[in-house]
Amino acid sequence: MEETKKCKYCGQDKPLSDFAPDKRSKDGLAHTCNCCKRKQALAEQQKKENPLAQYSPVELMKELARRGYDGTLTVTERRTVYYQLY
Ligand SMILES: [Zn+2]
Repeated sequence: MEETKKCKYCGQDKPLSDFAPDKRSKDGLAHTCNCCKRKQALAEQQKKENPLAQYSPVELMKELARRGYDGTLTVTERRTVYYQLY
């Protein structure tokens, strides 16, 4: 049987081949599986490209209201795509 390791991110047991080598780690493998690593990297990238992507539309409205913005927000096509990705 193939050896497995539990991914810290998704909690699933994955074959060792799903983990990238990591010298800093005790067993020499990364804590998160390659699939989750990609997801994390994508999320990080989106945060950098669009800091608003970390807010849900409701949170965004609240945050803007808190900062004194007034009026209605229109959701643009671009933003909709971001939220679907997120
Ligand atoms: Zn994982």
